Amino acid sequence: MRSFSYQRAADAGAAVSALASSASDNNPLTLATAQPLAGGTTLIDLMKLDVMRPATVVDINALARSWSAIDLGGDNLRLGALAKMSDVAANPEIQRNYPIIANSLKLAASPQLRNMATLGGNVMQRTRCSYFRDISYENCNKRNPGSGCAAMDGFNRMHAVLGTSDQCIATYPGDFAQALVALDATVEITGKSGTRSLPFAQLHKPPGNSPEIETTLQPGELISAFAISGRWPRSVYLKARDRQSYEFALSSAAIALDVQDGVIRDARIALGGVATVPWRAREAEALLKGQQFDDSLARHAADAAFADAKGRRHNTYKIALGRRVVARALQQAVTMEI
Ligand code: FAD
Ligand code: SF4
Repeated sequence: MRSFSYQRAADAGAAVSALASSASDNNPLTLATAQPLAGGTTLIDLMKLDVMRPATVVDINALARSWSAIDLGGDNLRLGALAKMSDVAANPEIQRNYPIIANSLKLAASPQLRNMATLGGNVMQRTRCSYFRDISYENCNKRNPGSGCAAMDGFNRMHAVLGTSDQCIATYPGDFAQALVALDATVEITGKSGTRSLPFAQLHKPPGNSPEIETTLQPGELISAFAISGRWPRSVYLKARDRQSYEFALSSAAIALDVQDGVIRDARIALGGVATVPWRAREAEALLKGQQFDDSLARHAADAAFADAKGRRHNTYKIALGRRVVARALQQAVTMEI
Protein backbone atom coordinates (compact mmCIF):
# COMPACT_ATOMS: atom_id res chain seq x y z
CA MET A 1 0.00 0.00 0.00
CA ARG A 2 1.30 3.47 -0.88
CA SER A 3 1.83 6.03 1.80
CA PHE A 4 -0.76 8.78 2.13
CA SER A 5 -1.52 11.63 4.46
CA TYR A 6 -4.42 11.21 6.90
CA GLN A 7 -6.56 14.08 8.13
CA ARG A 8 -9.48 13.92 10.53
CA ALA A 9 -12.07 16.62 9.78
CA ALA A 10 -13.87 18.06 12.81
CA ASP A 11 -16.85 19.37 10.86
CA ALA A 12 -18.28 19.70 7.35
CA GLY A 13 -16.45 22.97 6.64
CA ALA A 14 -13.10 21.44 7.57
CA ALA A 15 -13.81 18.31 5.51
CA VAL A 16 -14.76 20.28 2.42
CA SER A 17 -11.76 22.57 2.63
CA ALA A 18 -9.36 19.66 3.24
CA LEU A 19 -10.76 17.88 0.19
CA ALA A 20 -10.75 21.00 -1.98
CA SER A 21 -7.27 22.16 -0.92
CA SER A 22 -5.79 18.76 -1.75
CA ALA A 23 -6.54 19.34 -5.43
CA SER A 24 -8.99 16.47 -5.62
CA ASP A 25 -10.47 15.63 -8.98
CA ASN A 26 -12.84 13.07 -10.40
CA ASN A 27 -10.14 10.63 -11.45
CA PRO A 28 -9.37 8.43 -8.44
CA LEU A 29 -6.04 7.41 -9.91
CA THR A 30 -4.60 10.88 -9.94
CA LEU A 31 -1.95 10.80 -7.25
CA ALA A 32 -2.98 14.22 -5.99
CA THR A 33 -6.54 13.14 -5.36
CA ALA A 34 -8.00 13.51 -1.88
CA GLN A 35 -10.69 11.04 -0.89
CA PRO A 36 -13.17 11.15 1.98
CA LEU A 37 -13.09 8.16 4.33
CA ALA A 38 -16.37 6.96 5.84
CA GLY A 39 -16.60 3.25 6.82
CA GLY A 40 -13.56 2.51 4.68
CA THR A 41 -14.92 -0.83 3.43
CA THR A 42 -14.47 0.12 -0.22
CA LEU A 43 -11.79 2.80 -0.05
CA ILE A 44 -9.22 0.88 2.01
CA ASP A 45 -9.86 -2.27 -0.01
CA LEU A 46 -9.08 -0.47 -3.27
CA MET A 47 -6.07 1.33 -1.78
CA LYS A 48 -4.62 -2.04 -0.77
CA LEU A 49 -5.17 -3.27 -4.32
CA ASP A 50 -3.41 -0.10 -5.57
CA VAL A 51 -6.48 0.76 -7.68
CA MET A 52 -7.25 3.94 -5.72
CA ARG A 53 -4.21 6.01 -4.84
CA PRO A 54 -5.25 9.08 -2.88
CA ALA A 55 -2.45 11.29 -1.65
CA THR A 56 -4.73 12.44 1.17
CA VAL A 57 -7.47 10.61 3.03
CA VAL A 58 -9.92 12.87 4.87
CA ASP A 59 -11.73 11.01 7.66
CA ILE A 60 -15.30 12.37 7.84
CA ASN A 61 -16.57 10.16 10.67
CA ALA A 62 -16.72 13.07 13.15
CA LEU A 63 -19.50 14.50 10.94
CA ALA A 64 -21.72 11.60 11.98
CA ARG A 65 -22.94 13.76 14.88
CA SER A 66 -24.97 15.80 12.39
CA TRP A 67 -25.01 13.54 9.29
CA SER A 68 -26.27 10.20 10.57
CA ALA A 69 -29.88 10.94 11.53
CA ILE A 70 -32.88 8.95 10.30
CA ASP A 71 -35.72 11.51 10.17
CA LEU A 72 -39.23 10.41 9.30
CA GLY A 73 -41.31 13.54 9.68
CA GLY A 74 -44.82 13.65 8.17
CA ASP A 75 -44.62 11.94 4.82
CA ASN A 76 -40.96 12.70 4.17
CA LEU A 77 -37.86 10.68 4.93
CA ARG A 78 -34.37 12.12 5.34
CA LEU A 79 -31.38 9.84 5.79
CA GLY A 80 -27.99 11.23 6.79
CA ALA A 81 -25.13 10.10 4.56
CA LEU A 82 -23.15 8.82 7.53
CA ALA A 83 -25.97 6.63 8.85
CA LYS A 84 -24.77 3.03 9.03
CA MET A 85 -26.38 0.56 6.65
CA SER A 86 -27.26 -1.75 9.56
CA ASP A 87 -28.98 1.02 11.58
CA VAL A 88 -31.20 2.04 8.67
CA ALA A 89 -32.04 -1.58 7.76
CA ALA A 90 -33.02 -2.35 11.38
CA ASN A 91 -35.17 0.75 11.91
CA PRO A 92 -38.80 -0.41 12.45
CA GLU A 93 -40.28 2.69 10.78
CA ILE A 94 -38.14 2.14 7.68
CA GLN A 95 -39.12 -1.54 7.63
CA ARG A 96 -42.82 -0.61 7.85
CA ASN A 97 -42.92 2.35 5.48
CA TYR A 98 -40.02 1.62 3.12
CA PRO A 99 -39.40 -2.15 2.93
CA ILE A 100 -37.66 -1.46 -0.39
CA ILE A 101 -34.94 0.48 1.51
CA ALA A 102 -34.68 -1.85 4.49
CA ASN A 103 -34.31 -4.91 2.25
CA SER A 104 -31.90 -3.32 -0.23
CA LEU A 105 -29.60 -2.69 2.75
CA LYS A 106 -30.26 -5.96 4.60
CA LEU A 107 -29.48 -8.02 1.49
CA ALA A 108 -26.16 -6.23 0.88
CA ALA A 109 -22.69 -7.38 1.93
CA SER A 110 -22.40 -9.01 5.40
CA PRO A 111 -23.48 -7.96 8.93
CA GLN A 112 -19.91 -6.91 9.77
CA LEU A 113 -19.66 -4.74 6.66
CA ARG A 114 -23.09 -3.22 7.21
CA ASN A 115 -22.09 -2.24 10.75
CA MET A 116 -19.11 -0.28 9.36
CA ALA A 117 -20.46 0.98 6.05
CA THR A 118 -22.38 4.22 5.55
CA LEU A 119 -25.14 5.14 3.12
CA GLY A 120 -22.95 7.77 1.39
CA GLY A 121 -20.07 5.35 0.97
CA ASN A 122 -22.46 2.70 -0.29
CA VAL A 123 -23.76 4.73 -3.20
CA MET A 124 -20.18 5.81 -4.04
CA GLN A 125 -18.75 2.26 -4.14
CA ARG A 126 -16.83 1.28 -7.27
CA THR A 127 -17.56 -1.47 -9.77
CA ARG A 128 -16.53 -5.04 -8.96
CA CYS A 129 -15.28 -5.62 -12.53
CA SER A 130 -12.32 -7.92 -11.89
CA TYR A 131 -10.23 -6.25 -14.60
CA PHE A 132 -10.74 -2.90 -12.87
CA ARG A 133 -9.76 -4.32 -9.49
CA ASP A 134 -6.62 -6.09 -10.72
CA ILE A 135 -3.93 -3.66 -11.84
CA SER A 136 -2.02 -6.42 -13.64
CA TYR A 137 -4.57 -5.91 -16.45
CA GLU A 138 -3.54 -2.83 -18.40
CA ASN A 139 -6.66 -2.58 -20.53
CA CYS A 140 -9.25 -0.84 -18.42
CA ASN A 141 -10.66 2.47 -19.64
CA LYS A 142 -12.11 3.21 -16.23
CA ARG A 143 -8.81 2.77 -14.38
CA ASN A 144 -6.51 3.76 -17.18
CA PRO A 145 -8.40 6.01 -19.67
CA GLY A 146 -7.78 5.17 -23.32
CA SER A 147 -6.29 1.74 -22.62
CA GLY A 148 -9.20 -0.37 -23.88
CA CYS A 149 -11.53 -2.74 -22.08
CA ALA A 150 -10.39 -6.24 -21.16
CA ALA A 151 -13.94 -7.28 -20.24
CA MET A 152 -15.46 -6.77 -23.73
CA ASP A 153 -13.96 -9.99 -25.04
CA GLY A 154 -12.93 -11.38 -21.68
CA PHE A 155 -14.87 -13.10 -18.92
CA ASN A 156 -17.91 -10.85 -18.70
CA ARG A 157 -20.39 -13.01 -16.78
CA MET A 158 -20.93 -10.31 -14.10
CA HIS A 159 -21.09 -7.38 -16.53
CA ALA A 160 -23.90 -5.08 -17.60
CA VAL A 161 -26.46 -5.57 -20.34
CA LEU A 162 -28.04 -2.09 -20.06
CA GLY A 163 -26.41 1.35 -20.32
CA THR A 164 -23.12 0.04 -21.69
CA SER A 165 -20.82 1.83 -24.13
CA ASP A 166 -17.99 0.82 -26.46
CA GLN A 167 -15.63 1.93 -23.70
CA CYS A 168 -16.96 0.10 -20.63
CA ILE A 169 -19.53 -2.53 -19.66
CA ALA A 170 -18.91 -2.53 -15.90
CA THR A 171 -21.92 -3.14 -13.66
CA TYR A 172 -22.91 -0.71 -10.93
CA PRO A 173 -22.66 -3.10 -7.97
CA GLY A 174 -24.67 -1.57 -5.09
CA ASP A 175 -28.21 -2.36 -3.92
CA PHE A 176 -29.42 0.69 -1.95
CA ALA A 177 -29.09 3.03 -4.96
CA GLN A 178 -31.81 1.13 -6.80
CA ALA A 179 -34.25 1.84 -3.95
CA LEU A 180 -33.34 5.54 -4.12
CA VAL A 181 -33.81 5.70 -7.90
CA ALA A 182 -37.17 3.92 -7.73
CA LEU A 183 -38.43 6.31 -5.03
CA ASP A 184 -37.34 9.45 -6.93
CA ALA A 185 -35.03 10.38 -4.05
CA THR A 186 -32.98 13.55 -4.02
CA VAL A 187 -29.38 13.67 -2.86
CA GLU A 188 -28.08 16.55 -0.78
CA ILE A 189 -24.52 17.57 -1.58
CA THR A 190 -22.27 19.77 0.54
CA GLY A 191 -19.37 21.66 -1.01
CA LYS A 192 -17.33 24.82 -0.73
CA SER A 193 -20.18 27.03 -1.87
CA GLY A 194 -22.79 25.45 0.42
CA THR A 195 -25.41 22.78 -0.09
CA ARG A 196 -27.18 21.80 -3.27
CA SER A 197 -29.73 19.08 -4.09
CA LEU A 198 -30.26 17.06 -7.21
CA PRO A 199 -32.35 14.07 -8.23
CA PHE A 200 -30.47 10.99 -7.07
CA ALA A 201 -30.92 9.53 -10.57
CA GLN A 202 -28.54 12.26 -11.81
CA LEU A 203 -25.71 11.31 -9.44
CA HIS A 204 -24.30 8.36 -11.41
CA LYS A 205 -23.07 8.80 -14.98
CA PRO A 206 -23.29 6.06 -17.60
CA PRO A 207 -19.82 5.25 -18.99
CA GLY A 208 -20.17 6.83 -22.45
CA ASN A 209 -16.76 7.96 -23.66
CA SER A 210 -15.39 8.67 -20.19
CA PRO A 211 -15.99 5.69 -17.91
CA GLU A 212 -13.42 7.02 -15.44
CA ILE A 213 -15.91 9.73 -14.41
CA GLU A 214 -18.59 7.89 -12.49
CA THR A 215 -20.61 10.62 -10.80
CA THR A 216 -21.61 14.25 -11.16
CA LEU A 217 -20.03 15.17 -7.82
CA GLN A 218 -17.61 18.05 -8.20
CA PRO A 219 -14.12 17.96 -6.69
CA GLY A 220 -14.31 18.44 -2.93
CA GLU A 221 -18.06 17.78 -2.67
CA LEU A 222 -19.56 15.38 -0.15
CA ILE A 223 -22.92 13.66 -0.01
CA SER A 224 -24.61 14.81 3.19
CA ALA A 225 -28.11 13.27 2.98
CA PHE A 226 -30.82 11.57 0.93
CA ALA A 227 -34.46 12.70 0.91
CA ILE A 228 -37.61 10.85 -0.15
CA SER A 229 -41.15 12.19 -0.47
CA GLY A 230 -44.11 10.01 0.44
CA ARG A 231 -44.29 6.65 2.15
CA TRP A 232 -44.03 3.43 0.17
CA PRO A 233 -45.22 0.51 2.31
CA ARG A 234 -46.05 -1.52 -0.84
CA SER A 235 -42.49 -1.91 -2.03
CA VAL A 236 -39.97 -4.72 -2.42
CA TYR A 237 -36.32 -5.31 -3.19
CA LEU A 238 -35.66 -8.69 -4.79
CA LYS A 239 -32.09 -9.79 -5.41
CA ALA A 240 -30.85 -12.84 -7.36
CA ARG A 241 -27.23 -13.81 -6.69
CA ASP A 242 -24.87 -16.76 -6.84
CA ARG A 243 -25.38 -17.51 -3.13
CA GLN A 244 -27.97 -16.43 -0.59
CA SER A 245 -25.74 -14.12 1.43
CA TYR A 246 -22.62 -11.96 1.18
CA GLU A 247 -22.80 -11.65 -2.59
CA PHE A 248 -23.46 -8.94 -5.18
CA ALA A 249 -26.57 -9.02 -7.37
CA LEU A 250 -26.64 -10.83 -10.69
CA SER A 251 -29.97 -9.14 -11.13
CA SER A 252 -32.20 -7.20 -8.76
CA ALA A 253 -35.42 -5.23 -8.88
CA ALA A 254 -36.54 -2.40 -6.61
CA ILE A 255 -40.28 -1.94 -7.03
CA ALA A 256 -42.74 0.44 -5.37
CA LEU A 257 -46.44 0.35 -6.22
CA ASP A 258 -49.63 2.18 -5.43
CA VAL A 259 -52.46 -0.33 -5.97
CA GLN A 260 -56.15 0.33 -5.44
CA ASP A 261 -58.81 -2.36 -6.01
CA GLY A 262 -56.33 -4.42 -8.00
CA VAL A 263 -55.50 -1.51 -10.34
CA ILE A 264 -51.96 -0.14 -10.41
CA ARG A 265 -52.15 3.64 -9.90
CA ASP A 266 -48.41 4.23 -9.77
CA ALA A 267 -45.41 2.00 -10.41
CA ARG A 268 -41.70 2.63 -9.82
CA ILE A 269 -39.13 0.11 -11.02
CA ALA A 270 -35.34 0.21 -10.79
CA LEU A 271 -32.94 -2.55 -11.81
CA GLY A 272 -29.63 -3.58 -10.27
CA GLY A 273 -26.86 -6.01 -11.19
CA VAL A 274 -27.63 -5.62 -14.90
CA ALA A 275 -26.75 -2.01 -15.73
CA THR A 276 -23.82 0.40 -15.61
CA VAL A 277 -25.75 2.76 -13.34
CA PRO A 278 -28.77 2.31 -11.04
CA TRP A 279 -31.34 1.80 -13.81
CA ARG A 280 -34.90 3.13 -13.97
CA ALA A 281 -37.23 0.99 -16.11
CA ARG A 282 -39.69 3.64 -17.25
CA GLU A 283 -41.05 1.65 -20.21
CA ALA A 284 -42.12 -1.11 -17.84
CA GLU A 285 -43.69 1.41 -15.47
CA ALA A 286 -45.72 2.96 -18.31
CA LEU A 287 -47.16 -0.45 -19.24
CA LEU A 288 -48.33 -1.07 -15.69
CA LYS A 289 -49.99 2.24 -14.85
CA GLY A 290 -53.80 2.14 -14.86
CA GLN A 291 -53.89 -1.62 -15.48
CA GLN A 292 -55.45 -4.48 -13.55
CA PHE A 293 -52.56 -6.66 -12.42
CA ASP A 294 -52.15 -10.23 -13.62
CA ASP A 295 -49.27 -12.55 -14.49
CA SER A 296 -49.39 -11.70 -18.18
CA LEU A 297 -49.08 -7.97 -17.42
CA ALA A 298 -46.09 -8.71 -15.17
CA ARG A 299 -44.39 -10.63 -18.00
CA HIS A 300 -45.03 -7.82 -20.50
CA ALA A 301 -43.59 -5.24 -18.12
CA ALA A 302 -40.55 -7.44 -17.49
CA ASP A 303 -39.98 -7.81 -21.25
CA ALA A 304 -40.23 -4.03 -21.67
CA ALA A 305 -37.64 -3.48 -18.92
CA PHE A 306 -35.07 -5.44 -20.92
CA ALA A 307 -36.13 -4.46 -24.47
CA ASP A 308 -32.86 -2.56 -25.05
CA ALA A 309 -30.58 -5.03 -23.28
CA LYS A 310 -27.44 -6.16 -25.07
CA GLY A 311 -25.84 -9.42 -23.97
CA ARG A 312 -22.25 -10.52 -24.56
CA ARG A 313 -20.54 -13.85 -24.61
CA HIS A 314 -20.94 -14.75 -20.93
CA ASN A 315 -23.73 -12.49 -19.65
CA THR A 316 -26.70 -13.02 -21.98
CA TYR A 317 -28.30 -15.12 -19.22
CA LYS A 318 -28.83 -11.86 -17.30
CA ILE A 319 -31.58 -10.81 -19.71
CA ALA A 320 -33.74 -13.88 -19.04
CA LEU A 321 -32.88 -13.81 -15.33
CA GLY A 322 -33.63 -10.10 -15.07
CA ARG A 323 -37.06 -10.52 -16.66
CA ARG A 324 -37.94 -13.22 -14.14
CA VAL A 325 -36.73 -11.10 -11.25
CA VAL A 326 -38.90 -8.16 -12.36
CA ALA A 327 -41.99 -10.34 -12.87
CA ARG A 328 -41.55 -12.04 -9.49
CA ALA A 329 -40.88 -8.77 -7.67
CA LEU A 330 -44.06 -7.32 -9.18
CA GLN A 331 -46.07 -10.29 -7.94
CA GLN A 332 -44.56 -9.92 -4.48
CA ALA A 333 -45.31 -6.20 -4.38
CA VAL A 334 -48.93 -6.62 -5.50
CA THR A 335 -49.71 -9.45 -3.08
CA MET A 336 -47.83 -8.26 0.00
CA GLU A 337 -49.89 -7.50 3.15
CA ILE A 338 -49.64 -3.86 4.21
P1 FAD B 1 -15.92 4.07 2.12
O1 FAD B 1 -15.14 2.86 1.79
O2 FAD B 1 -15.46 4.88 3.26
O3 FAD B 1 -16.04 5.01 0.86
C1 FAD B 1 -16.39 4.51 -0.41
C2 FAD B 1 -16.15 5.61 -1.45
O4 FAD B 1 -17.08 6.66 -1.25
C3 FAD B 1 -14.77 6.25 -1.33
O5 FAD B 1 -14.34 6.64 -2.62
C4 FAD B 1 -15.03 7.47 -0.48
O6 FAD B 1 -14.07 8.47 -0.72
C5 FAD B 1 -16.42 7.87 -0.94
N1 FAD B 1 -17.28 8.47 0.09
C6 FAD B 1 -17.56 7.97 1.31
N2 FAD B 1 -18.47 8.74 1.92
C7 FAD B 1 -18.75 9.75 1.08
C8 FAD B 1 -19.64 10.88 1.14
N3 FAD B 1 -20.42 11.13 2.21
N4 FAD B 1 -19.69 11.72 0.08
C9 FAD B 1 -18.91 11.50 -1.03
N5 FAD B 1 -18.06 10.46 -1.13
C10 FAD B 1 -18.00 9.58 -0.09
N6 FAD B 1 -22.56 -3.41 -1.37
C11 FAD B 1 -23.82 -3.66 -1.77
O7 FAD B 1 -24.57 -2.70 -2.00
N7 FAD B 1 -24.27 -4.93 -1.96
C12 FAD B 1 -23.49 -6.02 -1.70
O8 FAD B 1 -23.94 -7.15 -1.85
C13 FAD B 1 -22.16 -5.80 -1.24
N8 FAD B 1 -21.33 -6.83 -0.97
C14 FAD B 1 -20.05 -6.58 -0.54
C15 FAD B 1 -19.18 -7.64 -0.26
C16 FAD B 1 -17.88 -7.37 0.13
C17 FAD B 1 -16.94 -8.52 0.41
C18 FAD B 1 -17.44 -6.03 0.32
C19 FAD B 1 -16.04 -5.72 0.79
C20 FAD B 1 -18.29 -4.99 0.06
C21 FAD B 1 -19.60 -5.25 -0.38
N9 FAD B 1 -20.47 -4.21 -0.69
C22 FAD B 1 -21.74 -4.45 -1.10
C23 FAD B 1 -19.98 -2.84 -0.67
C24 FAD B 1 -20.20 -2.17 0.66
O9 FAD B 1 -21.57 -2.04 0.90
C25 FAD B 1 -19.50 -0.83 0.54
O10 FAD B 1 -18.11 -1.10 0.64
C26 FAD B 1 -19.91 0.15 1.61
O11 FAD B 1 -21.27 0.43 1.57
C27 FAD B 1 -19.11 1.45 1.44
O12 FAD B 1 -19.42 2.30 2.52
P2 FAD B 1 -18.24 2.90 3.41
O13 FAD B 1 -18.89 3.83 4.36
O14 FAD B 1 -17.41 1.82 3.99
O15 FAD B 1 -17.47 3.69 2.27
FE1 SF4 C 1 -12.47 -1.46 -17.12
FE2 SF4 C 1 -15.05 -1.03 -17.55
FE3 SF4 C 1 -13.76 -2.66 -19.14
FE4 SF4 C 1 -14.17 -3.37 -16.58
S1 SF4 C 1 -15.74 -3.09 -18.15
S2 SF4 C 1 -12.27 -3.58 -17.80
S3 SF4 C 1 -14.10 -1.38 -15.59
S4 SF4 C 1 -13.35 -0.46 -18.90
